[in-house]
Amino acid sequence: DKKEWFQLVNETTLTQDGRLIKIGANINTPKDVHTVLSNGGEAIGLFRTEFLYMGRKELPSEEEQFEAYKEVLIKMDEKPVIIRTLDIGGDKGLSYLQFPSEINPFLGFRAIRICLQEQMIFRTQLRALLRASAYGNLKIMFPMIATLTEFQEAKNILEEEKDKLKLAGIHFSEKIEIGMMIETPSSALMADHFAKEADFFSIGTNDLIQFTMAADRMNEKVEYLYQPYHPAILRFIKMIVDAAKKEGIWVGMCGEMAEDERMIPILIGLGVQGISMNVHSILRARSLIKKLNRVEMQALSERLLNLTTGEKVIEELEQSIKIN
Ligand code: PEP
Ligand code: MG
Repeated sequence: DKKEWFQLVNETTLTQDGRLIKIGANINTPKDVHTVLSNGGEAIGLFRTEFLYMGRKELPSEEEQFEAYKEVLIKMDEKPVIIRTLDIGGDKGLSYLQFPSEINPFLGFRAIRICLQEQMIFRTQLRALLRASAYGNLKIMFPMIATLTEFQEAKNILEEEKDKLKLAGIHFSEKIEIGMMIETPSSALMADHFAKEADFFSIGTNDLIQFTMAADRMNEKVEYLYQPYHPAILRFIKMIVDAAKKEGIWVGMCGEMAEDERMIPILIGLGVQGISMNVHSILRARSLIKKLNRVEMQALSERLLNLTTGEKVIEELEQSIKIN
């Protein structure tokens, strides 16, 4: 219950057999940080920066962005803060940045695709991030990466902005980790190669499920296909985690699946090291994880990977774990 959960506010998150799992929060604005801390968040696992760009008439300036990122980093006091670069397009539009309308916006001009073409926008954000990095433990994450070339281009642009700041004598952290969302099937399939280029992965199941099942996440008619428990999704998660482990990089999840009580045991079993979620789900997740045995969850997830349908996965889960 809630009272029991709040006793866990200042605790780390350990499974029953002592495996450390990091629980972070997904936030949209710097104002959210207060509730992250009061709800026991150990990190910001996903700062969706597009919200700084929404509900206004023009692009936010470098200075405005710098102040926002700096505020989050200072308030988090050296705890990890993963800031994702602009993920606009798909379901999130900007009134002042209109591109030709598209038949398939989720498959269209969005996120890193816009940033690599409209580099003024991207570079402004990267400079703001670099300057803010001096104030805390910043990690930068790129969204919707589909190819290695995109990831390399994004990193090259970041390096160019670092060089410019150095020349100008502007201070930034030399230790910023650069990671990526794994939310396209191509990046999941190529995760072994990406793991050599990235410092960390964060699995974005909201998009990964819709692209894997070819079912628009906003379309009710095909909702029955949007199946987080489908073995195809579990197999992808396993591939991604195994690729990350092989190269020794950190792997977390920030899609909505990460806060699902039935899913958390599977994620622990598959070896996900961190989960990031809505702030109000953090303590419930911590309380659940304390009751889980990692070795048992590993055996359970091995069984689930070999089932044939999402329904069978749910059935097996319900028989194996009694969540109270
Ligand atoms: C995701 O796709 O799982 C994700 C976390 O990103 P968003 O929901 O912002 O697309
Ligand atoms: Mg996404």
